[in-house]
Amino acid sequence: MKSLGIYVHIPFCVKKCDYCNFNSQVPADSQQIKQYINALLLDIQLSSVLGQNQEVGSVYLGGGTPSFIAAKYISLIITRIRQCFKLTVNPELAIEVNPSSLSEQKLLVYQQAGINRVSVGAQSFKNKYLKLLGRPHNPRQALIALKMFKAHGFANISVDLIYGLPGQSLADWQDDLQAAVDSGVSHISLYDLVIEKNTPFYNIRNKLKLADNDLQGVMYKKADNFLIKNKFKHYEISSFAKKGRESKHNLIYWNNLEYIGLGAGAYSYVKGERFSKSRDLKQYQQQAKKAKFKHYSSEVLSSRKSLEETLILRLRLLGGFSLENMEKALEQKIPQDIIQVLNQFVNQGFILLRNNRYKLSKKGLLHYDTIASEFLS
Ligand code: SF4
Repeated sequence: MKSLGIYVHIPFCVKKCDYCNFNSQVPADSQQIKQYINALLLDIQLSSVLGQNQEVGSVYLGGGTPSFIAAKYISLIITRIRQCFKLTVNPELAIEVNPSSLSEQKLLVYQQAGINRVSVGAQSFKNKYLKLLGRPHNPRQALIALKMFKAHGFANISVDLIYGLPGQSLADWQDDLQAAVDSGVSHISLYDLVIEKNTPFYNIRNKLKLADNDLQGVMYKKADNFLIKNKFKHYEISSFAKKGRESKHNLIYWNNLEYIGLGAGAYSYVKGERFSKSRDLKQYQQQAKKAKFKHYSSEVLSSRKSLEETLILRLRLLGGFSLENMEKALEQKIPQDIIQVLNQFVNQGFILLRNNRYKLSKKGLLHYDTIASEFLS
């Protein structure tokens, strides 16, 4: 039996961060949250048909800020998922946490619901950068949250860090990495700051002292060396894990396997079709009430497109892939023109070909986006 992932979207935050263009908003009142959760519970029920004859190996509650809403809702969501889907014996149940909205009481409810992995959005351990980003928490709250999860026996604790922040020096970045390692987390995800349209940062982008590509590259390499030295395995472009602590849920995406998205704007990938629900909360709730979700966007992937996407996503994993294993897994021959493109990247030094495996080189790690867009075009 194949196992699949479930993503649950909680689109609420205590405030909007200045760089954020995710589908999230500050709720008008608690009633708005309640109505959304009711729609989400219906969504879980209605979408269960997509998971028939399959087991769910991972559930990921993301957002927005799942830890912002009352913990009883998290418990209800997990219970409803357990009722409507068949979970594997040892599923990964993960939640994103903002340090400003965590309490011990919430943590205990999460634990009771079976949540066994937490992803803490620390972003930086320096107050000046958190303020600049418009984050609602301070470094002390982040450290307390991490300590609390450890004290309660959570073995899978991930922390997010952003680099390339306006004015950030290499020494500041080193301090953030050190603080993350010292906190005893088992997983670290790194993100470079991207200025997105329709954000306050976009409007003042010319005034921000942004890191250029060279500095971002140096920061990335510094993190790579430092985290490896501290016994983290670099297993995906942006992800580092202690042994056995890789994110099961994200591995589903990087292996281009199936997942079901629940909630406003959430994407699903099932039986070769990728589709999403409306991002608009009112529309989403109305459709849930009518028990009929319209696809906001939908794409049926040809076997060629799906093959291309699988290869380029797999390339994100530092282990890369062998053509032989890929052909077996995808039950199709890899066309010669695709092999030629891969070999072209090998000749340019972006991809290594060792023991019949294609994997990103150090240079390729820094230019993945360019490789991916060239490959897919
Ligand atoms: S907490 Fe996350 S989702 Fe919410 S506004 Fe900030 S960056 Fe966006």
